[in-house]
Amino acid sequence: MRQADPSPRKPRRQITLPGSGVVPGIAIGPIAFAAEPKLEITRQKIAAADIAAERRRLDEAVVRARQQLIKLRARLAHLPEESEGELGPLLDAHVHMLDKSRLMRAIYAAIEEKLVSATTAVLDVSEAQAASILQSPRAGTDDSGAAARQAEEVRELGRRLLRNLIHLPFRSFAGLPPGSLLVADALRPADAALIAPDHFAGIITEEGGDVGHTAVMLRAIGIPAVLGVNGLIGAAREGSLAVLDGTTGQITLNPGPRLLADAAQSRTRFASAQRGLARLRRLASTTADHLPIELQANIELPFELPMVVRSGASGVGLMRTEFLFMNRDSLPDEATQLAIYRDTIEAMDGDPVTIRLLDWGSDKEVEALVAAGLVPETREENPALGLRGVRLLGNAPMVLETQLAAMLRAAVYGPVRILIPMVCRPREITLVRDAMDRVWRRLEAEHVRLPATKPPLGVMIETPAAVIAGATLARYADFFAIGTNDLTMYALAADRGLPARFGLYDALEPPVLRLIAMTVAAGDVAGIPVSLCGELASRPEAAPLLIGLGLRSLSMHGGAILRVKRVVRSVTLSRCEALAAAALGASEASTVHDLLDAYK
Ligand code: PEP
Ligand code: MG
Repeated sequence: MRQADPSPRKPRRQITLPGSGVVPGIAIGPIAFAAEPKLEITRQKIAAADIAAERRRLDEAVVRARQQLIKLRARLAHLPEESEGELGPLLDAHVHMLDKSRLMRAIYAAIEEKLVSATTAVLDVSEAQAASILQSPRAGTDDSGAAARQAEEVRELGRRLLRNLIHLPFRSFAGLPPGSLLVADALRPADAALIAPDHFAGIITEEGGDVGHTAVMLRAIGIPAVLGVNGLIGAAREGSLAVLDGTTGQITLNPGPRLLADAAQSRTRFASAQRGLARLRRLASTTADHLPIELQANIELPFELPMVVRSGASGVGLMRTEFLFMNRDSLPDEATQLAIYRDTIEAMDGDPVTIRLLDWGSDKEVEALVAAGLVPETREENPALGLRGVRLLGNAPMVLETQLAAMLRAAVYGPVRILIPMVCRPREITLVRDAMDRVWRRLEAEHVRLPATKPPLGVMIETPAAVIAGATLARYADFFAIGTNDLTMYALAADRGLPARFGLYDALEPPVLRLIAMTVAAGDVAGIPVSLCGELASRPEAAPLLIGLGLRSLSMHGGAILRVKRVVRSVTLSRCEALAAAALGASEASTVHDLLDAYK
């Protein structure tokens, strides 16, 4: 989170910084920093029996605050030395205060002695201590500046604890100037879901990689975006001009007149190339030697639907349902879900829609589940390896059954397939199939209109275990959808949110390609359909490789469909297979990148 403008003397000279291009396009505009939303708190009394629970809530908020401060401290290394020297001690002081300071002792005591909630205690005690610092004899002397600063530090730490206690999203976007470039140190997927598609010219963050869920969300929103720009927060200034190139992943701060003119030209060229792609919409998605390749769309947010329809997608290969649960504090009911699924199915006009069950966990936090008490308030130590996807659904039968009921009812409006996330074992499939049978019987008994047959039930192949157990899982599943985003992460032990500059996370590493080939083979032997819906499918240069690996169905964000179709129409199967054989035999991703470059 951006605490303050850390460098009042930032240079105005032109600086270009590299990052990961996440959404292609050129954007030019003034920088607007993501602001924090207002804290709205109501004071609350508690019963003596609740003291322990409130103390625990406070403990968790303190742990989270400490982690945030340590992260901010580490990031100062990118700032000019004088700014680091100024801000470092302040953050250290905050960490110190979280330990056994007078402030913290008084907050814990207020919960116990005054019987108030943790939130009320933080608010009242931090205000009272700040006021007493300002009224101390020191405040009227030469030292008054120091006293004011100290009071502000106490208030600032109090605000941090309050935000953590009430799980307030750290971002607010609505009030920022339209047409600007949104700059943030990091955006959570839920933050990204709050961004209106036409509001900003572009989005830039210091953290994040091109396959994290935030990147996936931003592709859905379609605003040019670059993530993982090292040093951004230290160098950028509110209101100053910047240029973003979502294709190369470069951003330029304080651009000079030449660069600005070039960028404006590139922006026009990009827009006309986009218009040129539209003519491909009505053309078949077949290779030059007439092999049909199905191109479907991934949907993360409902407003993508018109764009998906315009793209000519032959169905939805992956509808992520996490958005239904984000940025709200109650669970969406069956009717709410049914309305959204039905809109999507009707818009696809007879083409299949694959709806995935809730994939909570890892880098996707879903507040509604915390509020419903289905997941603990404190994040798991290692969320990518914890209660994610179907594992969570196994512990939350009501969430699973409500979702299945909405999906089954929606299936009367057109063909639906149901997809299970994060499967490793057959019993995770049986768990969902049994729940589906139960819900089906209940709906039948209630005389609810249902489709003639139950929808196919498929699994995401996104863990190495699922690939290795492919032949077994295929006996339980009706189809496979390969999720290369997670499969790459779990196979290479590299977080999908890592910035590309580390070179650790790359879906083109030969071991990952071998896992894809193994899955295609397992599906073929079992006679079940296999598609690929990770971000790799959106990369036009990867299409020949994926076809060569045996895939005939790719699902990607709607904005990529025509670019991928252009490549599909230009390739032949024999060249794709030769490319895939060479890539599978390569020892490093760099060789695979070279092979793809040479193929163009
Ligand atoms: C994947 O892991 O590749 C995938 C498509 O699922 P998600 O990105 O939602 O985890
Ligand atoms: Mg996944």
